[in-house]
Amino acid sequence: MIRFLARHRHLITGIVVVGLIILFVYMAIKTKDLKIGTYNNKTYSGIAFGTAIKKTIFAEEDEVCDKVDYDIDKILKSVDEKLSYREHGSEIDILNNSYAAGGIYTLSPDILMYLQKEMDIYKETKGAFSPCILPLSKLWGIEDGEARVPKESEIEAVLEHTNADNIVVTDEGMTFNDVNMAIDFGAVGKGIAADEVLSELSKSSVKGAVISVGGTIATYGVKGSDTMWHIGIQDPRAEDGNVFAVLDVNGGTVISTSGDYEKYFEVDGKRYHHIFDPGTGYPADNGVISVTIATNNGFLSDALSTACFVMGVDKGLEYAEIKGVDAIIVTSDKNVYITKDLRKRLHIKNTEYKLVK
Ligand code: ADP
Ligand code: MG
Repeated sequence: MIRFLARHRHLITGIVVVGLIILFVYMAIKTKDLKIGTYNNKTYSGIAFGTAIKKTIFAEEDEVCDKVDYDIDKILKSVDEKLSYREHGSEIDILNNSYAAGGIYTLSPDILMYLQKEMDIYKETKGAFSPCILPLSKLWGIEDGEARVPKESEIEAVLEHTNADNIVVTDEGMTFNDVNMAIDFGAVGKGIAADEVLSELSKSSVKGAVISVGGTIATYGVKGSDTMWHIGIQDPRAEDGNVFAVLDVNGGTVISTSGDYEKYFEVDGKRYHHIFDPGTGYPADNGVISVTIATNNGFLSDALSTACFVMGVDKGLEYAEIKGVDAIIVTSDKNVYITKDLRKRLHIKNTEYKLVK
């Protein structure tokens, strides 16, 4: 046998080499077939909803990426204009400035539907989430470049007009049972836009996409052989772009983060931010500094990131579990609280942050 091998060693070496080449070519073809690695993709950045946006679109042809980028921009602009109370002449602007207390005010069906959903969340959260917080946020002026701590008497006066019990929404329209009320979709606008973007992507030939609009990120499809998306969660106490953890999600998930670091000012070392507790009239002050919600519905994800921020760790986690969404709540002592399903899918990268089990 040994003599046989020795005599035919050149032949055997040849067979092995040819075998290896065939195997290599086969693997290469197979790899191409399975598209191991990532698909062709293009990245775009811009501005929408007054914040930075970034889109990475995976498709076979660059032209498809460009077309979808254009279509998404159109959607973001139209949702922003439609829902913005700042947009002069928008339905919400007209509503806020011309309703008469007590009368039924007709609105377009989608706005009415979103208002109904907001009212459901208002009731479920026992008022932590309020669709009519606007007079209060205007008083604080954080988003208008006129930030100041109002007097107690001013807050009390405004709180009279931010009680959503005075809103009645039916299929016919809405009624304000109080003058001086106003609607603001600030807490849900980006989530609604994410839903519309996902619906547009599903009509296209795009294979995968990740679209971020400020603190709201929508994932779609797959980017290649790795079928999960790995989404970085902003470190609430570091410069923009630094992540403290990575969350694995499937395509079709919307991940929204609300934080006390987004829009705030400080007086005597105290931070006043843009997420208000409708009960007190002050920025929510319960130790929470960031809430991330991940689920397959952008509206819910965005609404609950704001709502759970106000509710605090215990009630926030409980509500997230009831609604069946993933939640990551960070407190000022850098403790991280999560809903049960997240244990295997959240990877903390910054060791200053501690997962509370
Ligand atoms: P961002 O707009 O920075 O992404 P959020 O989704 O948390 O963050 O929304 C914050 C906005 O929601 C505020 O700017 C304000 O317009 C509105 N808001 C603040 N507090 C509440 C609240 N308790 N309920 C509903 N909306 C709120
Ligand atoms: Mg929100």
